Amino acid sequence: MKQIIVAVDGYSSCGKSTIAKQLARKVGYRYIDTGAMYRAVALYALQHGLLTDQQVVEALPLIRIDFSIQADGSQHTLLNGQDVETAIRTLEVGNRASQVSVIKEVRQFLVRQQQAMGKEKGIVMDGRDIGTVVFPAAELKLFLTASPEVRAHRRYQELLEKQNTDAADISFEAVLQDVNDRDYRDTHRQESPLRQAEDAVVIDNSQLTKDEQMEHVYRLFAQRCCG
Ligand code: C5P
Repeated sequence: MKQIIVAVDGYSSCGKSTIAKQLARKVGYRYIDTGAMYRAVALYALQHGLLTDQQVVEALPLIRIDFSIQADGSQHTLLNGQDVETAIRTLEVGNRASQVSVIKEVRQFLVRQQQAMGKEKGIVMDGRDIGTVVFPAAELKLFLTASPEVRAHRRYQELLEKQNTDAADISFEAVLQDVNDRDYRDTHRQESPLRQAEDAVVIDNSQLTKDEQMEHVYRLFAQRCCG
């Protein structure tokens, strides 16, 4: 069977990683969460008190990001060899990630690594610029959307379930505000703003169950790699 690249882009908290992981598991592909890479750079910046863009850019040669596969098949993000999977999932790191992701040099640094990971194909990668910048020739491009309210609700539940340190004093309104702020930054930044590739298949999953979405995506995958 032909190996392909699947690019999954879309707004924050619209279930990109859920569908990307599910598809990768079903078809035996490698899954890469590029948001985790931006989050790892953000965590490094927070841990080292890097406040300006210039400081972040100068630190890039000191940042090494890897993924390790756990016994249950899940993936953990490693920052300079340290497992930071839990630490990168807080609202604070998410916000800093959205700030460092506007820095041109940060994007170039991470996009190079992402392109190297996809050289052999057989990969599902999710992010904001996968179908437009990282792999413009990807055989299957998905663009996921859902209403800001639906996404804020999902993120709020996720934060509560994960019992992040900052979840206890988070309100739904704050999460909704955060979703809207992040959408604005993602779509208005100069460097690789979030936009739908012309040849992407748009999936609004506000009203879809996970199973319905997966069925639809798997059908598209089968068409692209075996059709
Ligand atoms: O997807 P996630 O919310 O984990 O991503 C964290 C932040 O990283 C996003 O808000 C977005 O600004 C940025 N990002 C990006 N390009 C990607 C993946 C994530 O700019 N390919």
